[in-house]
Amino acid sequence: LLSEGSEDDVEQHDVMAGHEKMNKLDAEGINRCVQCGICLPHCPTYIETWRETSSPRGRLRLMREVNAGKLDVLSPGFTAQMEQCLGCRACEAACPSGVPYGLLLEEARSLIAETRSTYHMMPLFDPSHAFASLFGNVDRLRRFLRMVRIYQRSGGQTVARESGILHILGLAGAESLLPPIPPAFFDARDITVTPKIQDARPSVAFLAGCVMSTIFAPTDYATVRVLTALGWPVIIPSAQTCCGALHAHTGDLQGARELAKRNIIAFESADADFIVNNAAGCGAALHDYATLFKDDPEWSKRATDFSGRVRDISELLAGHITKDQIGLFHPLSLRVTYQDACHLAHAQRITTAPRQLLEMIPALTLVEMDEAALCCGSAGSYTVTQPEMAGNLRARKLANIHSTNADIVVTANPGCHMHLRAGLHEVGSSAGIIHIVDLLDASLRGLAPDDVVAQARK
Ligand code: SF4
Ligand code: SF4
Repeated sequence: LLSEGSEDDVEQHDVMAGHEKMNKLDAEGINRCVQCGICLPHCPTYIETWRETSSPRGRLRLMREVNAGKLDVLSPGFTAQMEQCLGCRACEAACPSGVPYGLLLEEARSLIAETRSTYHMMPLFDPSHAFASLFGNVDRLRRFLRMVRIYQRSGGQTVARESGILHILGLAGAESLLPPIPPAFFDARDITVTPKIQDARPSVAFLAGCVMSTIFAPTDYATVRVLTALGWPVIIPSAQTCCGALHAHTGDLQGARELAKRNIIAFESADADFIVNNAAGCGAALHDYATLFKDDPEWSKRATDFSGRVRDISELLAGHITKDQIGLFHPLSLRVTYQDACHLAHAQRITTAPRQLLEMIPALTLVEMDEAALCCGSAGSYTVTQPEMAGNLRARKLANIHSTNADIVVTANPGCHMHLRAGLHEVGSSAGIIHIVDLLDASLRGLAPDDVVAQARK
């Protein structure tokens, strides 16, 4: 099995870029892999292909060969595998040897980008970097989404869809991902929202996120409502910026560090006990700041302090909710299933807290789907760069969702939300999808189940 990668998929070169970049990847991390194969049944691309090179073990072997200078870093087999990997980190969570797979993947992608740049081999258009550039710049993203809002509301979207032009331009898949853009975005201002019930809670500073504060702005407003309803004073630092997740995932570690520094400064000024976020991908990136600066004496301690205060919203709420507060939740007679976002379940190892919160809602039935923690195929720009694998994984996820007969799928990550929402619409499913915070907010406000389903189907 292990020889498959080097013979079938991987071009080997004697003297090329790989030699010059020897030992750029964390050799100690790679060498922790004892090739036991325990991670293989957890890997979505392996499950879909049954190919060793598309498994974590196979990819680690390729990294080892690049590090040793036996394999060119720009060989098609290596670059293809680094691109096909979803970065879901299910392998990392399953690995008994502690292989830091997520970090190694980011280093490998960074090495590829750096080598391409050195040899002036950058592709004319790189969708991953275009995504990071758009979604990683809050002002640019907001300008773009205001135009999308006009496109959606002016009738332009209907014309474009019915005319077939989106298919001709190859934009149909990407266009279908965008939900209706809300009329107003969530603005991070230097304000503290004080709860009505003062319960001597520690304070939280809220990271509003790029996609969350725009496409999912209502969820950000709901997050502040839920926190304050449960007694948390919420500080919203205005100097915050993108978490840098997309930059890191595409290998732009320097770009990720620049954004991380701005957030560290912004949240130090806020001086809150916790830094809370509501997007699994952002939360994982914020936790990784400590690793991002591990070799930087000036920033290492500040980054470690920052990461130590980061909490996902479900983790924070489930860990501090009191018996009296459970009484604040109104019944919601709904059948729901929970989709584990990879960067919550695997990167942050948070799987129990969201389920505990759902079970606190009276009259709500939680039905577990098969393979709840298997990646849905979203993964940042993956739907654009690897449409076939993204589509296969989504079809698999939709089948598992439908077998639960749930009214609503609950998730905690905008990427999964958009990808699955588009899939549910495409197959004409009656099931909707909602962020866990929106469901908690609906219960706290006493909304009717039908209204919640209608919201989730939009
Ligand atoms: S589980 Fe860990 S040690 Fe075993 S093959 Fe996978 S990465 Fe290597
Ligand atoms: S990150 Fe996900 S897709 Fe990539 S090797 Fe690990 S389990 Fe497989």
